[in-house]
Amino acid sequence: MKDPQSGQYQVHNLTEDTVEERLLRDMEKSDMCTCDRCVADVRAYALNHLPPQYVVSQIGNAFVLARSLSAQANADLVAAILDGIVLVKRNPRH
Ligand SMILES: [Zn+2]
Repeated sequence: MKDPQSGQYQVHNLTEDTVEERLLRDMEKSDMCTCDRCVADVRAYALNHLPPQYVVSQIGNAFVLARSLSAQANADLVAAILDGIVLVKRNPRH
């Protein structure tokens, strides 16, 4: 039996990676608090409103992320982050 954790491939969520990539930049642009709690709240909001996109990558290959979301998925992602920003900015929980 193969240990499922030691294989050569891993699955990760491209939606989550892409949110991560631009979250802080978008928050800073909107001139809001970027404390750990606010960042986590916007991240959670966005991820709750977006479908996951799982991709398989090879462990050790850092550049599989060249694969990216479709234009539509990317537009949805930007919109979800912005909704989260508006909400958390208006109602911070820090
Ligand atoms: Zn804050």
